[in-house]
Amino acid sequence: MLMKRSMAKMLAVICLVILSAQALIASDEVLTQVSTIDALMTGIYDGTTSLGELRKNGDLGIGTMNTLDGELVLLDGIFYQVTSDGKVIRPDLTAKTPFAVVTFFTADQTITLKQGSNFQEFTGNTEKWFPSRNIFYAVKLKGTFKAVKTRSVPAQKKPYSPLAEIVKTQPVFEIKNVTGTVVGFWSPSYVKGINVPGYHLHFISSDGMAGGHVLDFVTENVTAEFDDTREFSLTLPDDNDFDKANLEKDRAAEVKAVEK
Ligand code: ZN
Repeated sequence: MLMKRSMAKMLAVICLVILSAQALIASDEVLTQVSTIDALMTGIYDGTTSLGELRKNGDLGIGTMNTLDGELVLLDGIFYQVTSDGKVIRPDLTAKTPFAVVTFFTADQTITLKQGSNFQEFTGNTEKWFPSRNIFYAVKLKGTFKAVKTRSVPAQKKPYSPLAEIVKTQPVFEIKNVTGTVVGFWSPSYVKGINVPGYHLHFISSDGMAGGHVLDFVTENVTAEFDDTREFSLTLPDDNDFDKANLEKDRAAEVKAVEK
């Protein structure tokens, strides 16, 4: 009798362990990232993770492509690559990325943005409204914009220059009266060095013809959706250049200059 009871207890414990493990694996609330923002800053541009692999971890996200060949957008499970000439192509799933962040998007909160809001006003208003500044938010801004100002970056040849050098001559695109989606993430300030604190947003027009890394926007009729995210998974590149890079320097000011 005693024996039976302890066995039953053990079985119950095993079941609990299996259930909680499944809960962790099955969670959609994970932000999955390839490499670190500081590694990208130093010029680690060789792609290490295929878009096909990335897609297993999300249907929404942002990043860049092998050799820094443009800005990457993942929206509703479809990848878009905005190249430095402003063209948008649909990259092959075998193409690789040196830096990307993705998640499976499910909106926890939805708000309608005031007409005429720019990036700075949007940032100020939403940061005040966030339930916490200590978690991640995946964001999706859908609708019509009076204007979206984006940039892209050109493919690089080795030896790679640091990102701060490359963006000095970045092509900038002013897209007027456009329907589309801004996608990306808001990250807490403590991720400095790993990800971009605050907002990091990319844009893709609904006709799939224009986009890029968002520098600014002015809303017309836009709904913003937020996905609270409390899990973070980081994959570091299996890459000799990454292993040898100096990632001990504080590059916060450099990141700020490059992202804005
Ligand atoms: Zn970007």
